[in-house]
Amino acid sequence: MYPDDLLANWRSGRESWSDVSNEDWNNWKWQMSNSIRNLKHLQSLIDLTEDEKEGCELAHTKLSLSITPYYFNLIDRNDVNCPMRKQVIPSVNEAIISPEEMLDPVGEEKTNPVKGIVHRYPDRILFLVTSVCASYCRYCTRSRLVSNAQGYDFRPELESGLNYIQQHSEIRDVLISGGDPLLLSDEKLDYLIKRLREIKHVEFVRIGSRVPVFLPQRITPNLCQIFKKYGPIWLSIHVNHPIECTKELKNACEQLICSNVVIGNQSVLLKGINDEVITLTSLSHRLLQMGVRPYYLYSCDLITGSSHFRVGIKKAIDIIKKMRGYTSGYAIPQLVIDAPGGGGKIPINPDYIEKFTNDRVFLKNYKGDVYSYPID
Ligand SMILES: *Cc1c(COP(=O)(O)O)cnc(C)c1O
Repeated sequence: MYPDDLLANWRSGRESWSDVSNEDWNNWKWQMSNSIRNLKHLQSLIDLTEDEKEGCELAHTKLSLSITPYYFNLIDRNDVNCPMRKQVIPSVNEAIISPEEMLDPVGEEKTNPVKGIVHRYPDRILFLVTSVCASYCRYCTRSRLVSNAQGYDFRPELESGLNYIQQHSEIRDVLISGGDPLLLSDEKLDYLIKRLREIKHVEFVRIGSRVPVFLPQRITPNLCQIFKKYGPIWLSIHVNHPIECTKELKNACEQLICSNVVIGNQSVLLKGINDEVITLTSLSHRLLQMGVRPYYLYSCDLITGSSHFRVGIKKAIDIIKKMRGYTSGYAIPQLVIDAPGGGGKIPINPDYIEKFTNDRVFLKNYKGDVYSYPID
């Protein structure tokens, strides 16, 4: 299904941007200021379906529309089911609100001691430092505040967050997120990481970012110098489909790895986008070739207007079951449900334990053959 020319960006033609200089194209600020942010601009580049047009008209009240020219070029304009298209072009289905869906599906507002901090687990926190992203994923779990389309009026408060971390010596792990932290200026990122490194009990600093996927041009030598100065920095990127593994992404990962950044990937399991064994296996293989370890595969959170993206749990488990044993253990992400209401991430696994007897456990291997092992 996917060609062997792994990591070839076979959709790298500039198309609508053929007259743009390499210098501009490779400049992240050019990409940001030329991003597609409204229906008119989008329609000048691609024929939209009626559902998409209506979705774009609704976007300003739910989650803004924004797509970088670089990422837009990964879309197959002749395929209404293109996996990249579905991730970033709004659909009228976003207006459908299913009974179980919520504005805050993983209960972040419940464990929110100061603005921008989510303190759910004993030893680690989420630190939200911006509401802006390079492009907006239509299934965003934090759409209540990301892009500020819903009037949440999120404003990052770095100092109060830093003070909270300073005062809580149990926090050994800080996960910087948002929005996308890599859209902060180099100066701000340098300051933020420097402050965290000065706090003795913070031993683990990580960043969640989709910038390498939407805007690989942002991974500049200067940014890498900052990471090198404070490394190791752990980075979770968000790649959902093998076509997103372009030469540009590979190059960005190489530069990051050389700068003492350890990279993992978090995917969201999305209907019609990556809910096939071959797609997820191909994705994992490409990630490993880029030096990126698959970390989590999320079942899509119950965010309002996301039912068209959700894959059944039984199918999700079956996909993981069909990967285990047939590819490298490193290629298999941990399937998780981020529990509604703030329970945190719960691992979901195929069942390999057949039964326990008084003294033995009976186990099924990946082929379904049964083996036993003493309990004690
Ligand atoms: C995901 C998350 C973390 C980090 O979880 P890990 O399983 O350690 O990767 C921490 N805090 C919050 C609130 C989270 O949602």
